Parts: sequence; structure tokens; C-alpha cells
Amino acid sequence: MLHITASSGSGPLRDDACSYAAALDDWLATRPAALEAASRPIAAYDQRVAATSTLMGVLYDEGWARYGWPEQLGGLGGDIVHRAVMWDALARHGLPAMALYEHLEVLAPTLVALGDPDFMAEALPRFLRGEQVWSQGFSEPEAGSDLASARTRAVERDGGYVITGRKIWTSWARYARWCLVLARTGTTESRHRGLSAFVVDLQDPGVEVRAIEQANGTDELAEVTFDEVPVGPERLVGEIGGGWRVAMHILAHERGTFGWFRHNFLTREVLDNLSLGGPAGDTLLGNALLDLAAVRASSFAGVQAHAADTVLGPRAAFVKLMLAASEQAVNDWVLASDPDLAVGVQDDHVAVNRQDYLFSRIVTVYGGSQQMQLDTIAKQILRLP
Ligand SMILES: Cc1cc2nc3c(=O)[nH]c(=O)nc-3n(C[C@H](O)[C@H](O)[C@H](O)COP(=O)(O)OP(=O)(O)OC[C@H]3O[C@@H](n4cnc5c(N)ncnc54)[C@H](O)[C@@H]3O)c2cc1C
Repeated sequence: MLHITASSGSGPLRDDACSYAAALDDWLATRPAALEAASRPIAAYDQRVAATSTLMGVLYDEGWARYGWPEQLGGLGGDIVHRAVMWDALARHGLPAMALYEHLEVLAPTLVALGDPDFMAEALPRFLRGEQVWSQGFSEPEAGSDLASARTRAVERDGGYVITGRKIWTSWARYARWCLVLARTGTTESRHRGLSAFVVDLQDPGVEVRAIEQANGTDELAEVTFDEVPVGPERLVGEIGGGWRVAMHILAHERGTFGWFRHNFLTREVLDNLSLGGPAGDTLLGNALLDLAAVRASSFAGVQAHAADTVLGPRAAFVKLMLAASEQAVNDWVLASDPDLAVGVQDDHVAVNRQDYLFSRIVTVYGGSQQMQLDTIAKQILRLP
């Protein structure tokens, strides 16, 4: 068995994703205890977060989670294909979800590209090790689809900035240390040109995080208020007035490559529920598998584009639409296969299925609603008037 350590980050595992995939598969086949613990169904969300964070620590210490990230920021080199391979393998070996480490693939590529290098050299390893989680503070009560109307304000003071405002639907803020906040540094009329992106420490005085309990019983979402919260200049991501560029960089991942990471776990959900299925669900299962195959192909194109230092552009809207459709199709099949979901929760497996089913009803909203994706396709691809 190949056992790698942090010091062995050179050679074939970094340069050749196939060697990395084979070595990782061998390691996962030994069933590390942290993988076993995170792979069982865990209904209590905070316990699921703790088990996943422990697994992240082990993956980091063994080296696996450091591949795909730059060496100067604590990684071991390679690119997004390594990360695509890692999460695919974890799902195949039984991990049911990325949970709040989804933000590793939504936020971290942008933080690495546009964040302060010294700050990120400290922060990225802590994220990868499962010690400090990040959240994304874009949406506001009056600014969701129309993100350019965000009103949270950042004012220059004493060489840094002071942030005041209110964000909502901030995933995992309750568990996060950091929030990437889109704030207004220009006039309201300047719309997207007057926005800047800042990293805010959610433990600072003036920050209040209020968890929002969802219909499925989890507390993934939160409302976050900022009352004159100071941030140093090293917490600016990109440039002043460059917040829209930061947001678009993030959305390119949230729409274009995220489908790869999430669809692996939807496939896991199918595998974990196959024993429930009966002939009545065959058509639904067929639909779900077809949708998953479409997401796999289209999102891998997104992964390859990012590996080649380019992006899918407006075509990422298709990936986002197909991902949402596949998540609903998988969960339609689970519900048809397990009527217990609707009448009562009997064990953790059913409880998690119920949470996943209810969550699947809102996946057409995050990262830009279904209507906004259709709007992108109509205007930017089909050039409709
Ligand atoms: C599970 C989940 C996780 C989320 N996580 C985060 C997060 O971590 N960070 C964050 O910042 N936000 C997050 N969000 C918020 C999400 O980005 C917003 O909900 C989304 O952008 C829609 O904004 P809104 O809720 O204000 O709805 P609105 O923008 O008010 O839209 C309401 C309805 O009107 C439609 N609509 C609006 N404008 C148009 C238009 N021009 N043309 C056609 N239809 C239109 C929309 O499609 C929608 O159906 C999350 C949301 C969900 C559901």
C-alpha cells in the first residue's frame, strides 16, 4: 500500500491525476476510521459537520486533500482535476455528502486567485484541514437575483474598512469562522461597479449570526448582521470596486464545476437506497440516472475548462439547471421507494433521506434561481430579444 505524507508532494501524484486516483483508491479501501465514522447516516446536522471535519483533518494530514492546491498556500500542487478525483473517490467509498466543505469548491478557487497571498497562506490550510469553515455573504433581504442592488456598506477608516449591513441565506454561517462579504464601496447608483469583496471574521464584535431553521430541520442557513465591523486591508479580495469580478469568479464555480462535486453524492444517495427500490420506481430511477449522467458529462467539461485556465461562461447555466433537475429526480425516486419518508422518521437513514428530499425542493434557488439561469441561456446563448 502506498502511504503518502505531506512531504511526498512531488512526482507522479502531483503530475498525473491517474496515479493520484489509483493511490487514493488503495488508501480508501483500507477503510480509515474517520471515513467509516463520516459515512454512516447521521441525522443531527452538527454531528455530521463534526464527523466530516474530522475526516478533512485526516485527509489533510495524509496529504490527499492538499493536492490540487498551490504549494505556496499549503497545497501539494496539481489542479482541480485532483480535487474532482478526490471527491468522486470519497463518494464511491461511502461518504454521503461534502456538507459544508462544498465551499471549498465554490469559494476557495476565487480566494486563491484573488485573495491576499499572506492571509490565504494562513487561512487555506485551516480550511483544508477542517479547522475553519467559510461562508458566502452575497444575498440580502432586498438583493437576491438582483445582486447588484446589495446595500451592505464598507466605509474606509484608519487604513482599513468598516462594514455595516445585513446578509441572509448565508449557508453554514453558524459553523463558519470567515464570511466573504460583498459590500458597497461606491454609490447605490453605481450598481455592480460600486461593490467590493471583503473577508470578515464572524467572531469579531459587531457580527451577529442567527441560524434559520429550515423545513428539513437543519440549520444550514443563517442571517448575518454586521454593525460597524472593522476589517484590515489584507482582507480585501481583488480590488476596491472589483467585487463583481469576485462574485462572477465564484459563480463560475458554483454553476459550472460544482455540479461535478455534488452529483457524486447524489449518485451515492442512489446507491445507498437501492435496497429500498421496487419495480414501481424503475422509471423514476431511470430518469434520475439519465439526469446524473448528463450532469457528469457537462460538469466534467467545466472541470476540464478550469484545469485549462478557462471557464464555461454562460454554458454553466445548463450545468446548474441539470444539477437541480437531477437532485429532484433522485429524491423523487427515493420518496417513491420509501413511503416512510412522508409518514414518520424511524431511523437515521430515513431521517437523512427526509432531509435530503425536502432540501431537493429548494435547489432551484441557490447560486442563481432557475429563472435566472434560463434568462442567461435566452440572452447570452440563444440571443433572444
Ligand atoms: C439552499 C440555499 C442556499 C443558499 N446559500 C446562499 C449563500 O451561502 N450565500 C448567499 O449569499 N446566498 C445564498 N442563497 C440565496 C440565493 O442566492 C437567493 O435565494 C437567490 O439568489 C434568489 O434570491 P431571492 O431569494 O432574493 O429571490 P428573488 O430574487 O426575490 O426572486 C424571487 C423569484 O422571482 C424570480 N425572479 C427574480 N428576478 C427575476 C427576473 N429578472 N426574471 C425572471 N424571474 C425573476 C426568481 O427566479 C424567483 O423565483 C441560498 C439559497 C438557498 C435556497
